[in-house]
Amino acid sequence: MILYGAPVREKIRTELIEKIKKLDKQPVLAVVQVGNKEDSNIYVKNKQKFGEEIGVKVLINKFDADISERELEEEVKKLNDNENINGIIVQLPLPEGFDSEKIVNLISKKKDADGLTGGKTMPATARGVMALLDYYNIPISGKKVVVIGRSKLAGAPIAEILKEKGAEVEVCHRGTENMAQICKVSDILISAAGQIGLVTKDFVNKNQVVVDVGINRNKKGKLVGDVNFAEIEPLISAITPVPGGVGLLTVACLFQNMLDL
Ligand code: NAD
Repeated sequence: MILYGAPVREKIRTELIEKIKKLDKQPVLAVVQVGNKEDSNIYVKNKQKFGEEIGVKVLINKFDADISERELEEEVKKLNDNENINGIIVQLPLPEGFDSEKIVNLISKKKDADGLTGGKTMPATARGVMALLDYYNIPISGKKVVVIGRSKLAGAPIAEILKEKGAEVEVCHRGTENMAQICKVSDILISAAGQIGLVTKDFVNKNQVVVDVGINRNKKGKLVGDVNFAEIEPLISAITPVPGGVGLLTVACLFQNMLDL
């Protein structure tokens, strides 16, 4: 079975539209973007488009790559203090030289739509993975789950939330030995490593659900995941495609987070 993100996103979109209709005031999301990287421009545009479709105003605060870290910090603080702004996200990655963690951590917990400041809000990528598993009725409690990758943005929060939901979670990273063997005996395999072709037939079994969080550009400029889809799709139970899988849900979930806040 292919676990497409589109119907899940549609369900979330419908729920959000209903919620937003009932509000007295239009919610406002501020996006902080630094530099002019094409991928970042696309991601920011996608957020703006989704936001406007559901009735959220999305303000893009775009700064040149030569803005100083100090100035950027001040800009984030200004957004925190602006009562007309309900949610703030910093488009990651920031250009080299910026301390992304420091900048992100300046966002008020009350406005942190990406859920990256350690407050109650679930990081949007992890929420997307959970929404997908939930939509397709994939049981989590008591299941053996392996997460490849332990970044604060993706791997670590995904592992954390699955543990909270009762899964037996093992996390693999660059230094993990025998990774294929560890992954092969899991019920659910989640890859968030950012490495094209990392997950091959040696990592999987026929009852497995494989969730590919990776979004990478191959040599031809096409978006691909971490999983060798063509090789393993016939060998497993269910798999998310890239593009068209989890990636579609991160944006929807950041707006869910904002509405919750
Ligand atoms: P990152 O570089 O910060 O972290 C990568 C993690 O994977 C690290 O913990 C590293 O140890 C591990 N890793 C890397 N190569 C490995 C290997 N060969 N074997 C085992 N572990 C390995 O990256 P990130 O920001 O967490 O992003 C990871 C991927 O997820 C990227 O492709 C990114 O584009 C994608 N991503 C997708 C979404 C989404 O919305 N679906 C959101 C965030 C990130």
